[in-house]
Amino acid sequence: MSMEEEITKRWSSLKLTKTEQQELLLPKEDILSSKLRGHSCLLASILKDRTSNREAFKNTMAKVWNTSGWITFKEFGPNKFLLEFQLLSDKKKVLHGRPWSFDHHLVCLKEFESDLSHSEVEFKSEPFWVQAHNLSFAGMNRQLGVRIGKAIDKVHTVEVDDQGHGWGSYLRFKVDVDVNKPLVRGRMVNLGGKQSWSHFKYERLPNFCFKCGLLKHVNGKCPNFDPSNQSQDQYGQWMRASSSFPLQVSVKKYGGCPANPSQGSPHRKQSGREGEEMEDHVMSHSEEVVEEARQDTPACVNTSKHSRAIPR
Ligand SMILES: [Zn+2]
Repeated sequence: MSMEEEITKRWSSLKLTKTEQQELLLPKEDILSSKLRGHSCLLASILKDRTSNREAFKNTMAKVWNTSGWITFKEFGPNKFLLEFQLLSDKKKVLHGRPWSFDHHLVCLKEFESDLSHSEVEFKSEPFWVQAHNLSFAGMNRQLGVRIGKAIDKVHTVEVDDQGHGWGSYLRFKVDVDVNKPLVRGRMVNLGGKQSWSHFKYERLPNFCFKCGLLKHVNGKCPNFDPSNQSQDQYGQWMRASSSFPLQVSVKKYGGCPANPSQGSPHRKQSGREGEEMEDHVMSHSEEVVEEARQDTPACVNTSKHSRAIPR
């Protein structure tokens, strides 16, 4: 029986007085300030069956998050905290940097909801960066990344270049991971008749159960484990990504014409349209020298449809 059901049952068996029976209508204006303040708050839960050291948690997270403003922590249950940030930018930074862990246990975060009571707050999922290995290059693009990632849950981002391809040794995506379900180990894929198993590796994966794959069985005891029909661990260290290369899919271009302003910026993802405009821009600035360069030995030659040469 849940706590709410227990409370309802207990009060339904009592005879309420007239005063107690009168419903108290709470005016909406009076809850506005709670809603407003809630914008700078988050709810956090350490996924662990034993209570953590609160002070260590607060000090460690404040240090790890390295916020510019202050944070306060209010405990609303075992391993559960209401966080308030002085600066919204700090809250955004913390949300963006997920997943976090404390003492190798996952720290789940969610937006504050003022309509809920503390016992109604549920922590269901946490976003992780996942790498899908053993995919053919043809399978490493945005659309297929979203479909493959759906084997886990909702995909937020697929790391691809400006043309939508994520070519590299694996395809990387950010996806919600259900903390109440076993971690998904991979997906059988069939691309043009070629069947293969793509295995998933999770970046910054905290402790989890090697027997059943749940993130919350972390003390070595697994209630789901039945030694009579499971001879070996079904999950293991191999599900952790040893390291992550966030810039694996880089759009940085080397060589070519130094006048191109898109060079030297690995983060830049330019669409085709912007690229064309930039080329026009380069052309207009260098038209006079192009002729001269054609006569001399060109320092660099672009063999695209806008064939041109620009000296250094
Ligand atoms: Zn388990």
